[in-house]
Amino acid sequence: MSFVEVAIKVPLQRTFDYRIPTQLSGLSTPPQVGARVMVPFGNQRKVAVVLALKTHSDVPADKLKDLFEVIDDEPILSPQHIELLRFTARYYCYPLGETIHIALPSALRQGLCPDKSSINMVALTDKGAKLPSLKATSQLNLLKQLAESGKSSLTELKALGFSKKTIDSLLTKELISQTIEHDNQWQQQAPTVGNKPTLNKEQAVACSTINQAQGFNSFLLEGVTGSGKTEVYLQCLEDVLKRGEQALVLVPEIGLTPQTVNRFRRRFPDTPIMLWHSALTDNERLQTWRFCEKASCAIVIGTRSSIFLPFLKLGMIIVDEEHDSSFKQQDTLRYHARDLAAYRAFQHKIPLILGSATPALETLHKALNNKYQLLSLTQRAQTSTDNQFQLLDMKGQPDQAGIAHGSLATIRQHLKHGKQVMVFLNRRGFAPTLICHECGWLSECKRCSTSATFHKAIGQMICHHCGEQERVPHQCPDCGSTQIFPNGKGTEQIEEFLSSEFPDTPISRIDRDSTRRKGSLEKALDDINQGGARILVGTQMLAKGHHFPDVSLVLILDVDGGLYSCDFRATEHLAQLVTQVAGRAGRSGEPGQVLLQTHFPEHPLLQDLVNNGYQDFARFALQERDDAQLPPITNMAIVRAEGHNIKQVVDFLTDLVPVQSLTGIQLLGPIPAPLERIAGKYRFQLHIQALERPLLHQYLAQMVDYLSTSKLAQKVRWSLDVDPIDM
Ligand code: ADP
Ligand code: ZN
Ligand code: ZN
Repeated sequence: MSFVEVAIKVPLQRTFDYRIPTQLSGLSTPPQVGARVMVPFGNQRKVAVVLALKTHSDVPADKLKDLFEVIDDEPILSPQHIELLRFTARYYCYPLGETIHIALPSALRQGLCPDKSSINMVALTDKGAKLPSLKATSQLNLLKQLAESGKSSLTELKALGFSKKTIDSLLTKELISQTIEHDNQWQQQAPTVGNKPTLNKEQAVACSTINQAQGFNSFLLEGVTGSGKTEVYLQCLEDVLKRGEQALVLVPEIGLTPQTVNRFRRRFPDTPIMLWHSALTDNERLQTWRFCEKASCAIVIGTRSSIFLPFLKLGMIIVDEEHDSSFKQQDTLRYHARDLAAYRAFQHKIPLILGSATPALETLHKALNNKYQLLSLTQRAQTSTDNQFQLLDMKGQPDQAGIAHGSLATIRQHLKHGKQVMVFLNRRGFAPTLICHECGWLSECKRCSTSATFHKAIGQMICHHCGEQERVPHQCPDCGSTQIFPNGKGTEQIEEFLSSEFPDTPISRIDRDSTRRKGSLEKALDDINQGGARILVGTQMLAKGHHFPDVSLVLILDVDGGLYSCDFRATEHLAQLVTQVAGRAGRSGEPGQVLLQTHFPEHPLLQDLVNNGYQDFARFALQERDDAQLPPITNMAIVRAEGHNIKQVVDFLTDLVPVQSLTGIQLLGPIPAPLERIAGKYRFQLHIQALERPLLHQYLAQMVDYLSTSKLAQKVRWSLDVDPIDM
């Protein structure tokens, strides 16, 4: 072989050929497919990944350059992995070199090759397991954490806010011990399995169906909140581990669900389980990567990008809360981890489990068309009764801080019975705008076509889209009046009002503002679980998968915005959110109560949701999408463009619309984006739809080709979003 074809991180759709020099300077290994090489590119040195070895290159000999050196003795990407990345690049119309770059941990991107094949874990010693009383609360908390989780890596503990000093003192006192893990022992023996409940009938059917499946099979595990989906995952994983195979468990956000991770660790105490999420350092990423490729790690619980980890022997992929929008990357390579999971499962010929109480219509559509096998859990695992759902008509109702007097009375009742109450409002800050009582001025972000949110506690106006901050004005900038007031409600206001209404009741607020500090969310969740906080106020951060046994009332404050939105997915998202939030109530045995405040109690969506549940709503909504010929019945892509010059933005998109119509392709636009201006830039978009997916991709490929030569494309920032999930 005399030539290599490589991928390089450049914004081009193509690959590049290089000559293998006859004398490779100082290196004995010839390049291999999947290994990195260093190549000249322009006048730079760049890291490249070998895609193929060739005896012949179509590039003229005088244009071909020699590669500089071979970095890896062994490939860092298997042929199968390269195929996954090629598929990803093709499907999302993104340059292959950049796709590979995004998938790799940063040390590998930079051409480094440190060895990272061991990891420091700590666990309680027998002495520590007795939880002796200690003066230092941080030390005691660490012991409690380990009692919960069984075993943790040092880095995880640090992420939870424990200092090195705390860990060291416990090591000195021999209350905890350190082990270094790096072997594949787990593959040789059956896993130790912690206590587990006996499955109910529906769970047992789901488990055995999945375990008996041969080869590639996708399952939609549609189970109401608390129906025991996680238990099904755990028992299926047991079989996977027994076969000595690895598993990937994709979850929306790990920080939000430390309880889930603890549950996995407790169930499989001897099994190496690693976490993958955005808070990992570069070193930790590399370590997890290495562990996966050597099968030193059996289970990875990870967020979106863990879909690119190099498993040696993958036996199952689970996507928990598969409807969650965080699985879709919203910039650069706009991939959907759930959809790539399906491709990967197909590649490895293994089962894929998609679990949710509120499946995305995309997934449900596939299940109803028998592409995925539908498994249902219709009953909550620990109670026989469902939550009581109630719509509260807000028309003409007196309210304070957006809470109806009737709702307040209900809160009081539940508190009196010693229960916890959750108040949900999906808007952080004190109020979404300030308004001038004299002239009607509204606080707006100067750089975006949206309002600036009033954050009272820190005395700032903040734009939630571009991050712009300003001091709160004392006077109206238009008329000089000092009569300016908060307009609308945010979680900060709800918290303030409830504290004055229930001065003796501890309240915990959970939103992105209150949990910015490392470890603060864990602390707040812990406090809630210990029963410290009695009222929980929060945004959708509260909706995700938490298990708060004492919550008996969930009050949902404002859903009306989602009922009348221009985004055709708004009602689906609203129904998912309401169902998920409602699912936090009544998890301890008694049915919970869910109160939904609205000005439109007669709205068919709310009626359907309250009376028949999400399952029913979703099937009805799919019918509507069919009638309107919208995704998932059709396939969609969006070209978005932004720039300071509105004409250039519109011209760029207009140029993409062909003069003649194309059979099978529908184009809509250019139309302004829902937020027409962000951070000073104008934003427009073009929607592309086709009934047949291959046709859509054929069209997109041609378009991307055209864009690489288009002069107009150089004047704006554009992106292509295949299967967009927001408009
Ligand atoms: P989901 O993942 O669907 O929200 P979980 O698996 O978390 O549901 O189950 C909810 C609760 O019910 C958990 O406390 C779990 O331990 C318990 N549970 C699940 N399955 C069973 C079962 N078969 N018997 C008893 N308890 C169960
Ligand atoms: Zn004014
Ligand atoms: Zn802004």
